Amino acid sequence: MFYIHPVECIECGLCETICPVDAIRYDDEVSPEDLVYIDINREYFEESVTGLGDPGGWDAKNTTNVDHPIVAALPPNTAVKEAYENKENS
Ligand code: SF4
Repeated sequence: MFYIHPVECIECGLCETICPVDAIRYDDEVSPEDLVYIDINREYFEESVTGLGDPGGWDAKNTTNVDHPIVAALPPNTAVKEAYENKENS
């Protein structure tokens, strides 16, 4: 899953336009069933998950393979994977 820093994101919208599976939303566009992912996204940067805090923008030294434990426990989303692969092959 991609995580977007809830404070450092300047809401330019670029990632939204290039996401191959149309998965990125502004907070006020998130469907009611997906609202939990706003908290999961915020928690990702906290000490309890990655401890990345407020790194001041992206940097290769601030990358990690750690996923939020709730997301890591989810079954693979094959529909998203197939959509991504179809877009890559078109
Ligand atoms: S590309 Fe823009 S909208 Fe997307 S995470 Fe970065 S700053 Fe935020």
